[in-house]
Amino acid sequence: MGIIVQKYGGSSVATPEKIRRVAERVVNTYKSGNKVVVVVSAMGKTTDTLIDLAKQLHNFPPTREMDLLLSTGEIVSVALLCIAIENLGCEAEGLPGFLAGIRTDSSHTKARICTIDARRILEELKNGKIVVVAGFQGISPEENITTLGRGGSDLTAIAIAGAVKAEKCEIYTDVPGVFTADPNIVPEARIIPIISYREMLEMASAGAKVMQSRAVEFAQKYHIPFVVKSTFADNGGTMVTEVNFKEGAIVSSVTLDEKQSKITFFHVPDRPGVAARIFGALGKENINVDIIVQNVSLQGYTDLSFTVNSAELDKAFKIAKETGNELNCKEVASDSDIAKITVIGLGMMNHPGVAARMFKALADAGINIEMISTSEIKISCIIKKQDGQKALKAVHKEFIE
Ligand code: ADP
Ligand code: ASP
Ligand code: MG
Repeated sequence: MGIIVQKYGGSSVATPEKIRRVAERVVNTYKSGNKVVVVVSAMGKTTDTLIDLAKQLHNFPPTREMDLLLSTGEIVSVALLCIAIENLGCEAEGLPGFLAGIRTDSSHTKARICTIDARRILEELKNGKIVVVAGFQGISPEENITTLGRGGSDLTAIAIAGAVKAEKCEIYTDVPGVFTADPNIVPEARIIPIISYREMLEMASAGAKVMQSRAVEFAQKYHIPFVVKSTFADNGGTMVTEVNFKEGAIVSSVTLDEKQSKITFFHVPDRPGVAARIFGALGKENINVDIIVQNVSLQGYTDLSFTVNSAELDKAFKIAKETGNELNCKEVASDSDIAKITVIGLGMMNHPGVAARMFKALADAGINIEMISTSEIKISCIIKKQDGQKALKAVHKEFIE
């Protein structure tokens, strides 16, 4: 009998009625003769609410306590789903991350999974139970509760699927699969029936919330294919797996990330070691930097800008100001009024001219580009946040419709 891992996101368990529907789906899968492990996220916007509560009490809440706080959201969902499953006459065993054997490193709020000791999960499955595991959390070597970064329940599901050698891993969410653009913003977006790990990873890193990027990275590394589908509909579904490039689509998707912020160092000395100092200080605090642009040097001074995730802006800006003072730079400024638009496609490797078409589509829509970054299979532009959705529609129209 094969094992199926199913993950249900926050919107799928937002209310008791939705939890009841998830329980029915889980029980049906179990009654069709499968062993079932379920991974759940916190109900609705619980995690945002918990972060907001902490921020009301401290500008920079201690990360160990943040993890303790945030882990409770997923545990509530686990307990409620187990109760709903038991109500349907099946036996369920709920496990917070640390009881499910999810061992992580000690980087609070974005811990990495080191190992999964799946013995407890496998034991409960053998006893005929449906196992429900709290997503997004684990335990550090110091025996502290950790969380896996926003959207981290996806990672929990993929990693468990790998650890128990699941026959299938299904990610259930509020849309019918992965689309050519966020279907909630672009109604013309089309579902992508099958997509490569590599493109999915670029989409996730570019901010397509539908999958956490670290989860996709893990799936790619350990060859764990998975399906993204809707909790509320039976049709659709996107298979994410190893796919070889097929001739045809040059651009497979367009992604908008409205959670980007920019930090600029004005008038920094242009000498060896300055960039290393700035990004070293941020790296030490585990802050991810995305796009970096440095201006042409003028009389030994330059301006340097980079983007970070808005959730980390306060922390990054504090560090940047300290480093800016040490470097005697004129000013350090932050701007959270930006967005990033990215086109992605394996086909771009063999087709020049995609960048020019993207810039023209943006220009025709009257949108100014502030920063640009490219790689083999993607092009990203930083624009004003207010232009974000218009840009997404214009670029999607240019390449996909
Ligand atoms: P969950 O709570 O199930 O984890 P998320 O909110 O994290 O769900 O992710 C699902 C959301 O991702 C969708 O509601 C949609 O708005 C957004 N999204 C962004 N880009 C895409 C895309 N290309 N395809 C599908 N969904 C997308
Ligand atoms: N509840 C967590 C979050 O909102 C994890 C998840 O939903 O995957 O980020
Ligand atoms: Mg999610």
